[in-house]
Amino acid sequence: KKVDLVYTRMRTEERMLTDALRARGCTVETHADSDMVLSLDRARWKDGGTVVMRGMSFTRARYLAAILEVKGSRVLNTARSIATCGDKALTTLALAEQDIPMPWSFLGFEQDACVAEMDRRGYPCVTKPVLGSWGRMVARVDGTHAAEGMMSMRFEMGGAQDHVALVQQYIDKPGYDLRVYVIGEAVGGMRRRSEHWVTNTARGAVPERYEVPASHARLAERAARAVGGEMVAVDLLETRGGEVMVNEINHCVEFARSIEFTGIPLPELMADYILGATR
Ligand code: ADP
Ligand code: ZN
Ligand code: MG
Repeated sequence: KKVDLVYTRMRTEERMLTDALRARGCTVETHADSDMVLSLDRARWKDGGTVVMRGMSFTRARYLAAILEVKGSRVLNTARSIATCGDKALTTLALAEQDIPMPWSFLGFEQDACVAEMDRRGYPCVTKPVLGSWGRMVARVDGTHAAEGMMSMRFEMGGAQDHVALVQQYIDKPGYDLRVYVIGEAVGGMRRRSEHWVTNTARGAVPERYEVPASHARLAERAARAVGGEMVAVDLLETRGGEVMVNEINHCVEFARSIEFTGIPLPELMADYILGATR
């Protein structure tokens, strides 16, 4: 079997995944997304086989996946799931459509209207860019004055595509959030513990082992299905009362910082899934 792997940078994840595929007798060709220039038509790319999309740039990953699918390639994850997971507003909508529990959230397009709605809903609340990762620019808003400042930054800085505000209910977590890996099915997870309310491992949260209870596994699988994600990391928020909600779904699973703590053989599980989907 043969697969093409598209990357932005060959990080630990991409190297481990490539090694796991090769260890299974698969031929892997790797392609830097920066070098790819694809015709917008149905002409096959390579053999039209399986493409593992590991680009870190959302713009590149979503366009390349969309183009490659029209060309007849089997892209993992699918173009639709990348476009949905990469955009937190679209993720939230896809989850809402399936009645999956999540923090309340709203979308607005103008400063005063957003501040008025935040005042009405109450504080604290959270605002974050619709496109973003690693906890960057995720902000907790504790009152009207902070809301005014955040919303004026949201609407007066950046380009036209930044002029949208996603606002969410603040969930008072018990010092951690949860991540469930869904590789076809829920295969395990981790708890990310931090003193800070932002619990990304990229921001210093400590990964811990967590035996995923069946209810969390089913919720994560439903969430993955709602966005069409086959190999994804589903982030869950737990309230102090033990209620569980879905926060976001990551389409490009990262594990370099956590694999030694979780012991979950993600590269091998992903390689098996990819080969199962490959003709
Ligand atoms: P990113 O894609 O940058 O990881 P997230 O939405 O996952 O963005 O937010 C990063 C982290 O911030 C989460 O892992 C969680 O710890 C915290 N967080 C985000 N939204 C909320 C919220 N509504 N309530 C409480 N904590 C949140
Ligand atoms: Zn994310
Ligand atoms: Mg996250």
